[in-house]
Amino acid sequence: MSELKVKQNVGTAKAVVILAALANEAQRLQLPRDVVITAVSDGEHSRNSRHYFGHAVDVRSKNFPNAEAKRVFLQRVLTRLGEGYWGLLEDEGTPNEHLHLEWRGGPRKRPLTEEVD
Ligand SMILES: [Zn+2]
Repeated sequence: MSELKVKQNVGTAKAVVILAALANEAQRLQLPRDVVITAVSDGEHSRNSRHYFGHAVDVRSKNFPNAEAKRVFLQRVLTRLGEGYWGLLEDEGTPNEHLHLEWRGGPRKRPLTEEVD
């Protein structure tokens, strides 16, 4: 079974690394439903959110069969990502519930939404 690999230090936003881990773990677990990315650098997030730097990804959680399946998937993706990454089941039990994963290592870069001068 082939996987999407991202070489280290390709100089890209960490969202790409997170997306690869999500896709690979979904395939490994043979999840019965699609994994839906609901936000990367778009949408409204807290001020200075990692989303604006291209270092965070949100995933729809309401299509998982139960709470345990959400936790298992999140934990396995985080284990796959390794050091420097973090995530949680955000706003659990509300209409805004979703899995949030982000990269927390290293210095923040210029936000993707900011104009290059
Ligand atoms: Zn998020």
